[in-house]
Amino acid sequence: MDIDKIRKDFPILSRRVRGKPLVYLDNAATSQKPRAVIEALSNFYENTNANVHRGIHTLSEEATALYEEARKKVARFVHAPSPESVIFTRNTTESINLVAHAWGRKFINPGDEILLTGMEHHSNLVPWQILAQEKGAVLKFVEVRPDGTLNLEDLDRNAGPRTKLIAVTHVSNAIGTINPIRRFAQVAKSLGALLLVDAAQSVPHIPVDMRVLGCDFLAFSAHKMMGPTGVGVLIAHEEMLEKMSPFLGGGDMIREVWLEKATWNELPYKFEAGTPNFAGVAAFGAALDYLQGLGMDNVRAHEQELIGYALKSLLQIEGITIYGPMDSAQRSGVVSFNLGTIHPHDLGTVLDEDGIAVRAGHHCCQPLMRRLGINGTTRASVYVYNTKEEIDKFAKSLDRARTLFGVCAPSPTDRPAKPSAKKEGR
Ligand code: PMP
Repeated sequence: MDIDKIRKDFPILSRRVRGKPLVYLDNAATSQKPRAVIEALSNFYENTNANVHRGIHTLSEEATALYEEARKKVARFVHAPSPESVIFTRNTTESINLVAHAWGRKFINPGDEILLTGMEHHSNLVPWQILAQEKGAVLKFVEVRPDGTLNLEDLDRNAGPRTKLIAVTHVSNAIGTINPIRRFAQVAKSLGALLLVDAAQSVPHIPVDMRVLGCDFLAFSAHKMMGPTGVGVLIAHEEMLEKMSPFLGGGDMIREVWLEKATWNELPYKFEAGTPNFAGVAAFGAALDYLQGLGMDNVRAHEQELIGYALKSLLQIEGITIYGPMDSAQRSGVVSFNLGTIHPHDLGTVLDEDGIAVRAGHHCCQPLMRRLGINGTTRASVYVYNTKEEIDKFAKSLDRARTLFGVCAPSPTDRPAKPSAKKEGR
């Protein structure tokens, strides 16, 4: 891959921040967009804009074609069972909440167990807490080991005949661990339980084949994979979707409506109530084409090389603590760390002065932070357009912060969390 050529496709990468060339290392929060996606969005509004599925006029037909073509592209991208098994939502969070409502409320009973892990993003934890409270179900956990990998003995210990659902993140947004989903699928299958995979950090960065993963539900967001904001995906087998209750009620999701009752539309429309983000979905189609053109194996290989390089150079910095597996084969393009007693927000501010964008805080993973005995971390996350030169600038800037603040030995837990008006996470 020619990274310099790829970089030219992303207009934002040529801007400067605080007088320095932007070094964007906040890709786990959201990715940048290639020109093809930006143009697909503006082309849609300039030439095609009309509501989908409703009109008989040319614009509506063209808009519907783009919308449905994107659905087929999603299905091909992750080897979904069929285009009809692909539901467009707003984001990963909504996709997971859809399952908690439409499947959970119908099929979870008092005493049933839902098995999660200690490294879930809040969006794959809180919906299950709400459901468990409502239904009298029990949450169980696979805990995180000090090295940032999951303790698979917990999986064998805590999965049992009452387990109805296992919900696990494929890749940790906070520390980058790639989890062994096949192992979770085998356990779920042996118990007749369902498996939900939060793929928000995997589908954008590593090749994902739903058939190989063996999961029942797959959730991810377009904005983390070069697509626009406001588009998410939930994939499930059609038989499962047929059995589930609707999530939101309204236009498009119905077949026939009377004053007192209604019947539901066919899949996938049963789960797409109201006007969807059709312009965003059309542009998401362009993002999928772009990633397909690069090849997800190539994307992963580049990121693995970059993160291996980053780990090596960051380990040279005195006082650094890096979280998560140190083997780049077990880690996505995320490196999360603390530098002595420097507060992650302070570190983020110094990096920003050098034009470097990272994230600081708990990354919407408070239980994981607690488990690691910290309040938060600074997180750098790469994508296919990042370079080794950018990693060098990043390491140099960290060194500047170290000199500026002076690095002391105590761990960041010794310092209470700084009250902050800033929203953390993502
Ligand atoms: N799960 C993981 C692993 C994530 O990284 C994120 C986003 N940070 C989410 C879920 C939620 O995604 P969204 O905000 O797009 O709903």
